[in-house]
Amino acid sequence: MKNINQVSIIGAGTMGNGIAHVFAQYGFNVALIDIDERRLKNGLKNIEKNIDRQILKDQLKDSEKTLILSRIAPFNNLKDGVAWANLVIEAATENYEVKKNIFQEIDDSAPKDAILATNTSSISITKIAAVTQRADQIIGMHFMNPVPIMKLVEVIKGYATSQATVSTIKKTVTDLEKIAVEVKDYPGFTANRILLPMINEAIFTLFEGVAGVSEIDAVMKLGMAHPMGPLQLADFIGLDVCLSVMRVLQEGIGDDKYRPCPLLVNMVAAGHLGKKTGEGFYKYEHHSKDFTVSKQFD
Ligand code: NAD
Repeated sequence: MKNINQVSIIGAGTMGNGIAHVFAQYGFNVALIDIDERRLKNGLKNIEKNIDRQILKDQLKDSEKTLILSRIAPFNNLKDGVAWANLVIEAATENYEVKKNIFQEIDDSAPKDAILATNTSSISITKIAAVTQRADQIIGMHFMNPVPIMKLVEVIKGYATSQATVSTIKKTVTDLEKIAVEVKDYPGFTANRILLPMINEAIFTLFEGVAGVSEIDAVMKLGMAHPMGPLQLADFIGLDVCLSVMRVLQEGIGDDKYRPCPLLVNMVAAGHLGKKTGEGFYKYEHHSKDFTVSKQFD
């Protein structure tokens, strides 16, 4: 089995900075790459903030902070950032064209024996693998948000992914004290094939006036013991991400039951993407944990 110790992460957004944090915490050397200098800086700041939170909760010692941060090297250039990797994890924008270009570039620049993983929520691993010369070393490594907290990593085997690649990735997940669940490469894999239609149905329930935002979330929290209601979860995931997953399900499975709710389409068009833009189904106060139902749904 391949020994993984140098990991390059592409994208320092919501997921990328969480993935970088966890690898650095468990002793891996990390290159964190983003083409957007501001997102890269924010990603590093976010890691620091989350480490501070872990220290407050006694999950980490004060002295570990500098060590963890020292293991993360920031890059704004993909070629340099993947040059020494034995594992690359792509966590860039959920768009096939973006990922296709990234995979072509890392296939050219990363060492030939490096495993190239994607954190995509829904795009076909097989389709991504097909643009590289190493389809047997391409795999889905779907971390859950927030990465430092959630235990699951959905491991997705593409059509040509080798068993050796699967075994190395499962072992790496275990090294992070997370749990790997292996699934097949079909639209939405397993997590989002089930989760996103539920969120979409919650949005239809609101759209058709069956219940309000607070009522829908209360029903699912209090009645089904979900830790977060589906509309709050949609805000947390990002409504643009939710919409793009629904489109992948609709196109990939070809069943109209995956049609995205027109309200979701409208909210994305309006730029109300949830927590990351300050407003979605709820309105979020800057630098505060407080949030209230968006005026649009009062
Ligand atoms: P995000 O928008 O927060 O971050 C994406 C980052 O990628 C941005 O900082 C952007 O500048 C960067 N980027 C774009 N093109 C790039 C390139 N060519 N090279 C380097 N950096 C580039 O997105 P996110 O929510 O972190 O999602 C990232 C991936 O993880 C997506 O594939 C998404 O589907 C998946 N995912 C998201 C969640 C979630 O809850 N948000 C959960 C699981 C998986």
